[in-house]
Amino acid sequence: SPTLSPESPTVGTAKRSRSTDASQATSLMWFRTDLRVFDNEALSKACAAGRPVVALFVIAKGEWKHHDFAPIKVDFVLRNLRTLAQSLAKLNIPLVVRTADAVKDVRPVVLDVVSQIGAKKVFWNKELEIDESRRDARIAEDLTAAGVTVSVNNSQMVVLPDLVFTKDRSPYTVYTPYKNCWISVVDASPNLLDLIPVPDPVAAALPEIVANYAKEHSEIPDALDEFPMPDELRKRAHAEWPAGERVAHERLVTFLEQRGARYKDERDFPAKPSTSRLSTYQASGVISSKLCVRLAWEANHKRLATGQPGLVHWISEVVWREFYRYILVKFPRVCMNKPFKLETDRVAWSYDKEKFESWCEGKTGYPIVDAAMRQLNTTGWMHNRLRMIAASFLTKDLLIDWRWGEKYFMQNLIDGDFASNNGGWQWTASTGTDSQPYFRIFNPLLQSEKFDPEGVLIREFVPELAGLSNDVIHEPSRKLSSKQLARIGYPEPMVDHGAARNKCIAEFKRASGK
Ligand code: FAD
Repeated sequence: SPTLSPESPTVGTAKRSRSTDASQATSLMWFRTDLRVFDNEALSKACAAGRPVVALFVIAKGEWKHHDFAPIKVDFVLRNLRTLAQSLAKLNIPLVVRTADAVKDVRPVVLDVVSQIGAKKVFWNKELEIDESRRDARIAEDLTAAGVTVSVNNSQMVVLPDLVFTKDRSPYTVYTPYKNCWISVVDASPNLLDLIPVPDPVAAALPEIVANYAKEHSEIPDALDEFPMPDELRKRAHAEWPAGERVAHERLVTFLEQRGARYKDERDFPAKPSTSRLSTYQASGVISSKLCVRLAWEANHKRLATGQPGLVHWISEVVWREFYRYILVKFPRVCMNKPFKLETDRVAWSYDKEKFESWCEGKTGYPIVDAAMRQLNTTGWMHNRLRMIAASFLTKDLLIDWRWGEKYFMQNLIDGDFASNNGGWQWTASTGTDSQPYFRIFNPLLQSEKFDPEGVLIREFVPELAGLSNDVIHEPSRKLSSKQLARIGYPEPMVDHGAARNKCIAEFKRASGK
């Protein structure tokens, strides 16, 4: 069994290690944001290592709280653990589930499991965020010192960040040139799209003592008290987001076959079921981005940038996901609460709690913004166009710090994903990678008329406006008196968009010293 270094917190438990015979050594596959058996590099290597394999998942309550995981996302993870455990059982791999209450507990828990099962090799897929990278580096150091081999793999990105760079070998800071380079890298090495099959069942039998340990720690809780969730939301989430990689795979195939061709034209209309809704599965690693790109590329006759416009556009959206991961690797300050454009730290953001709450609750008096926020609050998901409209309203119309909005989204999204969320917020707040200057400010009325012309989404999520006609529903305050608005229970606009826009531009100008 591994001898752990003296400063290791598990030195006590190491002595109790149950398997001491080197011939009984096992491999450990530590699952994190990669809850799948298909196209999982670390799992495939663990299975190929010729030893019995035990899988581990740590219910990292402290980390999840620290990173604002939404209860609906936690519920989704727990549900996917069940399907993962079933898939792993078919591969003769038991899933050990342990809990870490505080952030600092993850490391000792992992080291303890390694020790308990006598693992000589530990496999995982890299997590890119800075806290997770540091945690992993420390665990790897402890394991190496204890004579355990660590294998770190890639499962999050199609193209690793170091393969994409400018002519002078510096990182890209703007999406389009990044995307062009990304495409040229894949075109030159299409093997980057090779998928890793589900491994064959592991032949080597687990020592009985390890099998018993795994059985003792196989329970997956239905729910966690620390992440309470209303019953109604739970019911809805279970119906809308069934667990499992098979479901994700089927959704991908169905999307490509039935909606892929129309994607470019219809993707911006939130009332149309025109997008893939795969982000939820991607955010927990139930499906890999590589599988998404690979199948779209095949459907598009092995092309990425030319061919069927809907598929080309869809691939480019998955590349946005890659881009924001690239940004956090190349500019880790974005993981530390810092703006990507450092000079925007001088913007005098507002911290008005009352206004922030009106935005959170979907009571701004701007129907499309309110529909967006209520879609988030009642379903745990929001359409991309609405995310941009809601984020622009918070940061540009209310001048409230984008970090408040970023946090609120994470706390409520089933697809909450640090890189995409931070990237989306910073892009909209003009503190991020948007190549346009700060005066890209969404006009909520024009956005509403253009992207929800019939008010379908507004009627669904803001039912007090359901009876209004199409020409009134986007801006009820223009036709209805204060009294009439009060009667239907809808607020007056909390700001005048034109005036708020001018104020925002003036503030950004001042902050940039121009
Ligand atoms: P589709 O339109 O089918 O797109 C396919 C895939 O491409 C998505 O599943 C997603 O992985 C990726 N993608 C699409 N648009 C974007 C984008 N703008 N940025 C990055 N990747 C994209 N996405 C998250 O996954 N998690 C988040 O927490 C998140 N927060 C966001 C916050 C803001 C303010 C904004 C503007 C965007 C955010 N996004 C986030 C990106 C985007 O809104 C969602 O990925 C998308 O709405 C998911 O729907 P879909 O799966 O139907 O996407």
